Order: sequence, then C-alpha cells, then structure tokens
Amino acid sequence: MQRESPYPMVSIDEAQRLIREHITLLGVEEIDVLRDAAAGRVLAEDVYGVEPLPDAPKAAVDGYALRSDDGSAPRRVIAEVTAGAMPGLRVEPGTAVRIMTGAPIPDGADAVIAVEYTDERDSVLIVQRTLRAGDNIHTVGQDIAVGQLVLARGTTLGAAEIGLLATVGRARVMVYRRPVVAVLATGDEVYEPDGEVFPGGVRDSNRYALMAAVREAGGLALSLGIARDDVNVQRAAILAALDQADVLLTSGGVSMGTRDLIKPLLAELGTVHFGRIAFKPGKPTTFATIERPASVRSAPLLAFGLPGYPVSSLVSFEVFVRPALRRLQGDAHPERPHVRVTLCEPIRPSADRPEYQRAVVSWENGRLMARSTGRQGSSRLLSMLGANALLIVPAGMTPYAAGAELDALMTGHLAPPGASSGSSSAQPQ
Ligand code: AMP
Ligand code: MG
Repeated sequence: MQRESPYPMVSIDEAQRLIREHITLLGVEEIDVLRDAAAGRVLAEDVYGVEPLPDAPKAAVDGYALRSDDGSAPRRVIAEVTAGAMPGLRVEPGTAVRIMTGAPIPDGADAVIAVEYTDERDSVLIVQRTLRAGDNIHTVGQDIAVGQLVLARGTTLGAAEIGLLATVGRARVMVYRRPVVAVLATGDEVYEPDGEVFPGGVRDSNRYALMAAVREAGGLALSLGIARDDVNVQRAAILAALDQADVLLTSGGVSMGTRDLIKPLLAELGTVHFGRIAFKPGKPTTFATIERPASVRSAPLLAFGLPGYPVSSLVSFEVFVRPALRRLQGDAHPERPHVRVTLCEPIRPSADRPEYQRAVVSWENGRLMARSTGRQGSSRLLSMLGANALLIVPAGMTPYAAGAELDALMTGHLAPPGASSGSSSAQPQ
C-alpha cells in the first residue's frame, strides 16, 4: 500500500483550468423546434429577425382607429377591422374605424382610442379623451427589427427562446450535440439499489445521482453498471466508454486503498492531468483524457474519476464536471453564479483545504443569508438535501461567526426566507 499519492496536489483553479484546456466543442445538429425536445439545448447559430414584427402598424388595444387632429369632435364610424384582415379603406377627417387588438391600422388614422374611453350610438363615436399621434399603435418593427440579433449562439433554449424562434419562423435551428456521458460505479461492496445487498455492502447511489446530474446539465447519461474491483473488469468498462461516450464518470476507486484501481488504469490508457485537488469534499478527484483509435476522428474521451463517498462525488461533479459538460455543449454561460452571502450561524473551516459546504441560501431583509445543511460528512448524502448553494470556505483554523460574509456558488433557486435543509430538524446530534 502506498503511503503518499504520487500525484501533486493542484488548486481548484488549476484543476478547472486543466479541464478547460482539454475541452473541444461538440459538433452540431439540426433540431425541429416545434416537435423535438428543444428546451435545454444550446443554440449553435445566431438567429436574426428577417421580417419586421409587427409587419404593419397595428392596434395595441380594442377600440377605434381615428385621426388625432380631429380632437374631441364626434366621428362617424365607417367600418370595422379585425385582426388578420387588411383594411382597404381610408380614415378621412371626421371618421373612425372600429378596430380590434392586432388589426392593421387603416390609412389616414394615426391613433387608436381604447373602447373604455368611448361611446358609440347610431354609428356616431363620442371620445372621452383626446389622443396624440401614435397612441396605442404598435409601429412596424417595434418588437423585432429586420436584421436584429434575436438569439445569440451559446444561448440555452427555454420558454422565451422557443417562443422567439417560433415568432421569427425558425422551426429548424442548429444546436450543439448533447454530450454522451458514461457513468460507471466501482466497488466490490456496491450493489444495485433494487436487489439484495450482502452484509458489508452499500447500495449504489452515486451512479443514479450522477446520471440525474448529467441529465440536468444537458448530457445524455449512459449507465455502465457496477464494476468489481478487478483491473480487467474496470479496464473493459473504461474501454466501453471510449467506444460510446464523450465523457466518462467513474465513482470510487480513486483513493489510496489497495483496491483503488482507477488512477493507474487511466494512466495506463491515457494521460492523467491531475490526481489530487486541494478541495473538500473530493480531494482524490482525478481528470484524464484518453485518445481514441486513429480510425475514430473524435476528440479524446474526458474521464473524471470521482470519489466514492456520495457527497464528494456530487460536489466534485458540481464544481468540476458540470461546467465542463456545459462548455462541451457551447453554453455561453457554463458557470453557476457566484454570490456573496451572510452566515446565519457560525461555521468551522477545514484546516488544510478549501471546503465547499452545502447550504440553503435565501433573501432576507435585503441580504442573501446562508444556513448550513447540518453535519458536512462526505458520506452523509442528507447534507445535500435542500441545498441550493455551496459555501466556499477558505482553509484555516478560525471559525466564521454568524454575520460573517463568504462567497457561495448558487446551485439552485433561492429558497424562501427562513428555509433550512429538510434534514436538519430530524437529525440526531
Ligand atoms: P472508495 O473511494 O472506492 O474507497 O469508496 C469510498 C466509500 O464510498 C465506500 O466505502 C462506499 O461506502 C462509498 N461508495 C463507493 N461507491 C459508492 C456508490 N456507487 N454509491 C454509494 N456509495 C459508494
Ligand atoms: Mg472502492
């Protein structure tokens, strides 16, 4: 058994830089925005407006199109225009046209009065207020101008973006391919969660948690099952990933134990760029690239050896893998937001490594307030429950008092004021 890891300890920044250096943008594919699952995909092209929106001056409200220079005089109502119709008439002085929201403004009219401020009897319109030219008229190109950049490459498609693509008639657009991410659990003690678990065994939570995290990050998760702690079995699994995936995530087998085989295997099959990070939880997190056979013209496999402890594996995924998956897909904003938070309660730093502590952040009295999710052990998956942030706690000996400020990585939406982790109240001390 080795006493000292042969891998130098890199900083978090250095690890993130090494990963970034090895990322090659994935290829692109065309999707049908109206029929395919477009939400979450990242645009691989700039989308411009090619027609003005609206295409003609249009009524912004239901009412009457009229001439503002007729002032408050009564008008004769000569016609009605509804949305979708093209009026072939002219509003002469002293006349008005009944008009519906979205209908084109007839020639001669320069304003629309809302029906609420009018009275109409025997085709005579009485206006209760005077208008200025342009009132309640949507001008040509007001919402989208010709040649305007509507959506930029690198934008992640959500409801508004899909609506905009439909608006400009781009039913088909180019998006980046989603990364195929193979996930492998390792360990003689690791069992399928729905089967029998022998004494001393644990259920495989990592593979399922990581596959869910992969999907949330826009990847296509591919399960490689559980590999026994046998070098041939694990080698075969890594080679299977090389065949099928853009990225490989392994869980476990990266520490100093005699059955920790992943690091030497990655070194045998590819190049290990780092094998230790000054980071808690997840010090043994390893990153390697594996070249593909010369016949396959695709970028090397990105292999992440994640620790076996469930919290370490998910936190390492969040800090190192997720941004990489977003970058591979061309996301212009691959990083989660960093914010400054105020501690609700004192916390203790780790003496030797920066620690990413799980916390619940909410907006209270004009500040972002952070509450710990309780005991921060690497095996205690409950410490992830309800967490929407990772508090970035620098290494040191001095505890941080309530009221102290720290940086945090927002991993979810803000919690309601006073929210705490679902688990802490039920937790025995
Ligand atoms: P290892 O890094 O392989 O020594 O694993 C460290 C610890 O993480 C093991 O003792 C297990 O309790 C736990 N562990 C490893 N793999 C998994 C897994 N797939 N799901 C849940 N826990 C795991
Ligand atoms: Mg193991």
